[in-house]
Amino acid sequence: MAPSDSPPILGAFRRIVVKVGSSLLVDGAKGALRQAWLETLGADIARHTARGADVLVVSSGAIALGRTLLKLPKGPLELEQSQAAASVGQIALARAWSEVLGQHGIVAGQILVTLHDTEERRRYLNARNTMETLFGVRAVPVVNENDTVATDEIRYGDNDRLAARVATMVGADCLVLLSDIDGLYTAPPQKDPSATLIPVVPRISPEIEAMAGGAASELSRGGMTTKIEAGKIATTAGTTMVIASGKHDSPLSRIESGGPCTWFLTPTHPVTSRKKWIAGSLEPRGVLWLDAGAVDALRSGKSLLPAGVRKVDGAFERGDCVVVRGADGAEIGRGLVAYDAVAAVQIMGKSSKAIEAVLGYKGRNEMIHRDDLVLAAE
Ligand code: GLU
Repeated sequence: MAPSDSPPILGAFRRIVVKVGSSLLVDGAKGALRQAWLETLGADIARHTARGADVLVVSSGAIALGRTLLKLPKGPLELEQSQAAASVGQIALARAWSEVLGQHGIVAGQILVTLHDTEERRRYLNARNTMETLFGVRAVPVVNENDTVATDEIRYGDNDRLAARVATMVGADCLVLLSDIDGLYTAPPQKDPSATLIPVVPRISPEIEAMAGGAASELSRGGMTTKIEAGKIATTAGTTMVIASGKHDSPLSRIESGGPCTWFLTPTHPVTSRKKWIAGSLEPRGVLWLDAGAVDALRSGKSLLPAGVRKVDGAFERGDCVVVRGADGAEIGRGLVAYDAVAAVQIMGKSSKAIEAVLGYKGRNEMIHRDDLVLAAE
């Protein structure tokens, strides 16, 4: 293995998304919450928040818990049954997380998302703002799919890909997928006893995809195939991913002490990828014309404030991509604007302190936050 392909150190990441599969949270035979185990994970999470890392949990288990509480029969559920089970189980799940994290003085926040919430820009930005705000107050967001309203056509259906999308959404540098498998093997280990665990995957190649096979456990939908798909989403956007078994107590400590797992490395940095996404994949809906002072501020790494905007063109909504130009018309960059065109016209040229008086609500101080801005080459 080349030195650059050595396993990363979990304790060095600053923002970690931990995905917990249903089969870990819920005992398969009894259908009950695995409370003692969850407490060991809670202590692991608390250690990382105590060292200053942001932690977000993507937790499955709503349907598995709810079906027990509703005494639904074993076997596959109809869509309406799983929606009903999720509505019941999500309450129990959220309470469990709230209590377990609360033991360490950590406040948990529940966020239920649908596919549209992560794929549509405005909703995406709204959800992301809530997550950022929770990080800002040192709370731990606990995310699940909103299964009660998600139908087959418009759902993620598995929390592996949802977790990857959420990880890229919050610019996490690490995604931990905890399930009932140690990691990626050279072949599905149930079928091939000579299969060996791969500790580091520098790049998800077609060979790696072939190794994933189709292993899925009883309680969770996501087999290795969806985990590899999650790996593609994560690593393309600059998030390192690790797959490890959560069938042991303190599963994060186990990764840190060199326990079995598979790391998927990323060649890119989260911010760079996010900015690539802004620069490359959106249709600009308008133009903001800046004064010279604002152009200098942007080039020195600052956000765009309303005060530096002289003219607004286009009929954009909040969260749309707009082009930013200097007085001479040269493109300075592109970014996601925090106000719609009507509001942008009202607050342009004004100090951020005046926003509330002008609009009647307290919006963001920045017209475009620097994290949402990509500068053109000078
Ligand atoms: N959202 C589902 C639940 O909470 C789980 C989906 C999955 O395990 O991937 O029950």
